Amino acid sequence: MRKLTLFMLVIPLACFGIMKPIEDFIIGVDLSTLYEIEKSGGKFYENGQQRDCLEILKDNGFNWIRLRLWNDPTDENGTSLGGGNCNYQNMTQIARRAKALGMKVLVDFHYSDWWADPGKQIKPKAWKDLHGEPLQKAVYEYTKDVLVYMRDHEALPDMVQIGNELNNGFLWPDGQIYGQNAGGFDGLVALLNSAIKAVREIDPSIKIMIHLAEGGNNSLFRWFFSQITERNVDFDVIGASFYPYWHGTLEDLSKNLNDISSTFNKQVVVAETAYAWTLEDADGYPNIFGSDQIAGYKPTVKGQSSFLRDLIDLIRSVPQNKGLGFFYWEGAWIPVKGVGWKSNEGNPWENQTLFDFGGNLLPSGQILRGSIFQPEEAFQIEDIVPVKVQISVGDELKLPEYVKVIFKDDSIRSLKVQWDQLSPQELTIGEHVVKGTIPQLEKQIEAKVIIIDQENYLSNASFESGVFDPWQVSGEKSAVKVVRADPPQNAHHGVYAVNYWLDKSFEFELYQIVSDLPNGVYRVSMWIQGSGGDLVQMRVSDHGGPEETVTITNAGWLKRSNPTIDNIKVITGKLKITLSVKGNPGNWGWVDQFELIRK
Ligand code: CA
Repeated sequence: MRKLTLFMLVIPLACFGIMKPIEDFIIGVDLSTLYEIEKSGGKFYENGQQRDCLEILKDNGFNWIRLRLWNDPTDENGTSLGGGNCNYQNMTQIARRAKALGMKVLVDFHYSDWWADPGKQIKPKAWKDLHGEPLQKAVYEYTKDVLVYMRDHEALPDMVQIGNELNNGFLWPDGQIYGQNAGGFDGLVALLNSAIKAVREIDPSIKIMIHLAEGGNNSLFRWFFSQITERNVDFDVIGASFYPYWHGTLEDLSKNLNDISSTFNKQVVVAETAYAWTLEDADGYPNIFGSDQIAGYKPTVKGQSSFLRDLIDLIRSVPQNKGLGFFYWEGAWIPVKGVGWKSNEGNPWENQTLFDFGGNLLPSGQILRGSIFQPEEAFQIEDIVPVKVQISVGDELKLPEYVKVIFKDDSIRSLKVQWDQLSPQELTIGEHVVKGTIPQLEKQIEAKVIIIDQENYLSNASFESGVFDPWQVSGEKSAVKVVRADPPQNAHHGVYAVNYWLDKSFEFELYQIVSDLPNGVYRVSMWIQGSGGDLVQMRVSDHGGPEETVTITNAGWLKRSNPTIDNIKVITGKLKITLSVKGNPGNWGWVDQFELIRK
């Protein structure tokens, strides 16, 4: 039997070829705010000893740095916009120190005065009015000038990325893919080519990267790079941002990198990534990573380490050694007053760094020493998130296909379960235990199933009798009927549903009055889909409290909504449910499966 490896747990579909040798691997860190941090008095430590940040990282296995470049990160008065003040003069100082230590340098040209990402790619103010050839010329000359300056200061980069997260192009609108006056892929490629020409002329050995966000989104990468390669853009590396809490699972990333590296015959690199080591906040400025972002690892130093271990394994396993490595984004952005994401704002990132709040290197930053791991912890179960399912009697029992297993290395993996079957006779009111197995761990688990008596107090609630009774219709009766749904998916439950439509304006109400209702608290809901354009409301009345109404906006065929009115206090032993529709000619809808449930 093949030995169970960690990688089989994490990426069951990855291939098990030879991994890229670790000494050829890029272990990179984005240090774009380091210049401002040092200027503002930030200090770094290893084991309590103050040292140079770059030296600490170098000694702990980091062999590349990444720096973003903004054309002119100042406002109209020449005041810094903040976020690191990443102009080329400042960034060259950091690059030069890295080169002197024998580290390699990636420069990330944003071609903007400030933050550029898929949501904004604003032209530098100096180029605001440039289009066509003058803009291409500006891109060419700026790129060349920066690289000449860096070369003259012994800081020539080893890799350059043309633009940052180009999901919708850059230098809007000229290099924008979609939008008003967008230049489309032709406009984008003309600008990319101008920058690439400058880089190749300075030094053809500088690797050129094109970079997108959403590293788990294979169809995006396929589509974008098909367009780029069809236009013969001359580049070497596909870069992907991958934040596990935004961009899919590690399995998604693995599939994408494996696919695009072979489809386009390019090297691939994770150009940005990060994970939290704590949920604490140091500076009172809210952090991007909060409890909602937990994705696959506990937000602990150990969890962050396990994430990096899995990421490294995944990239090293890209076939034909095409996975170059990764750059950890802003690993040294420790909380220092004056170094916010913009001037006079705070730091949203200090819980995703590789240093603690005081500037001490975390054990997770000892990236290749692995001192934090006891390797066997990756296989030792700490806990399994309990499975508890509640259904109403008569409903189908669906147990989750995957359970979350927490391992002692603080990774949280979703693993498949095979559940025992319960016969319908066994699904009686009360609590039940269903046994299951996690085959990958050969581990038995149990799910708790609670079956409750949830009587629907409406009659003919799903119209399966094929007629309205006891529902009633007032108003334009010709607009509304109970029909056998065709196609069948027009019904939400069973085979019949209510359909409305008329070729002229219409108004009707569909209602049912329930009497002999035990007084108590109830919930009313129904399922609806339709054309939209009409005024559709569900209302409850006659129950002894104020009338309550919910307005429904239909959004198109099979785009169902489940309007609900909750916490209805019935004190009269009675309740009236009304659906009212005011339609314009041609408006239509399908209505099904009303529920009136006592809570
Ligand atoms: Ca903060």
